[in-house]
Amino acid sequence: MAETPQYRPETLAVRAGQERSQFGEHAEALYLTSSFVFQSAAQAARRFSGEEQGNVYARFSNPTVSIFEERLAALEGAEDCVATASGMSAIMALCLAHLKQGDHIVASNSLFGATVQLFNNILSRTGITTTFVSHTDPSAWEAAIRPETKLFFLETPSNPLTEIADIRQLAAIAHAKGILVAVDNCFCTPILQKPLEMGADLVVHSATKYIDGQGRVLGGAVCGPKKLTEEVFKYLRTAGPTLSAFNAWVLLKGLETLKLRVDAQAANAARLAAWLEGHPKVARVFYPGLPSHPQHELAKTQQKNGGGIVSFEVKGGREQAWTVVDNCQLLSITANLGDVKTTITHPASTTHGRISPEARAAAGINEGLLRIAVGLEAVEDLQADLERGLSLI
Ligand SMILES: *Cc1c(COP(=O)(O)O)cnc(C)c1O
Repeated sequence: MAETPQYRPETLAVRAGQERSQFGEHAEALYLTSSFVFQSAAQAARRFSGEEQGNVYARFSNPTVSIFEERLAALEGAEDCVATASGMSAIMALCLAHLKQGDHIVASNSLFGATVQLFNNILSRTGITTTFVSHTDPSAWEAAIRPETKLFFLETPSNPLTEIADIRQLAAIAHAKGILVAVDNCFCTPILQKPLEMGADLVVHSATKYIDGQGRVLGGAVCGPKKLTEEVFKYLRTAGPTLSAFNAWVLLKGLETLKLRVDAQAANAARLAAWLEGHPKVARVFYPGLPSHPQHELAKTQQKNGGGIVSFEVKGGREQAWTVVDNCQLLSITANLGDVKTTITHPASTTHGRISPEARAAAGINEGLLRIAVGLEAVEDLQADLERGLSLI
């Protein structure tokens, strides 16, 4: 079904990739098997050599994982998708498949924390270096290019300030120098944003977030043209961080409702952001769907709506922000996002707590900042939960 782009996203999300077995199962089958048997020694030899397509061993492929890969590829508009054990293993696989000692990455200075650690503390040991530049200033990306630069890596909107990186412009700058562009599309999912259509070469996902959407399993993926994902597959089949069949099966159930959830969560987030913006105890709201967002116009050109993440600064500092968090009875105090259950976190003391206070201030992450990943509860109930703490400030 990946070759049938006339289907709309809601159709692809429930149908793409499924091939029924001899039993005619309606739901996708869960193939919990680590290896596969062959009809003969000759067939085993053909499968191992790659002369004949087919499953060999679950580190290489598994039919349930393959359905997930085809379905996500169809949604991203990608020729191919390779699933991984987690979002971080997708990023690691992408980098180690396409970079070698001496290569250089230019990356956004507002990436997911573990991605920064991966680039700074792990890839650096293999002689792959990274320069971090302003998320929103394409000229800084251009200026950071060196002869050995092989990859631009970004995620948009950024976490937690929802700043927008201009995918089209960064792709044009990179491609003029033969540099690959990878976009972490975890926050928007293909329902809201399709980076490949805007010039990105590869998309990575933490499927743990919106794709599962119900807080159950870890997973990840790399999507793109086969000539690029093939290298990722070669890395994975040897290095091993492949997606388990069980997690793929859970993620397939997540994909079936992805569009419904993402649309509803974004609608809730838009209402919550507008309410927060008018609240007397709130100093500032960061939400790409609000006209007050400095990059609202750019956001409109690359994502369908403002998405499900809203950040805001309460008047005051850490004490006031913590008052809001500690008075939540409904919102979950956790740094996870993309779940149908709304979550709240204080970035300065959690996700961004290990960064020096100076670097945090430079990045615009103040002590009064809170990030909400909006779920599917009634907005009125979320407002009442936040109001309890806000009214005490
Ligand atoms: C969570 C997250 C990751 C890492 O994904 P895991 O599945 O936790 O390994 C990468 N990028 C972004 C934007 C994330 O939110």
